[in-house]
Amino acid sequence: MRVEVDQDLCISCGLCISICEEVFSWNDDEKAQAIPDDVPEELEDQVAEAIESCPTEAIKEV
Ligand code: SF4
Repeated sequence: MRVEVDQDLCISCGLCISICEEVFSWNDDEKAQAIPDDVPEELEDQVAEAIESCPTEAIKEV
């Protein structure tokens, strides 16, 4: 599983980062970004929760 944050949709609420800071972090534009690599298997449930919780559906599985 690999994920991306749509920079146009992210409203910088910080929810994904609070759910899984191993995968999501702030970038220089103060938007969320995801690690470019495959999500480690043990974090997939947290990332799925982040995808569901994002208020603007900005996190996409790629
Ligand atoms: S939960 Fe969605 S809107 Fe909030 S920071 Fe993460 S990607 Fe952006």
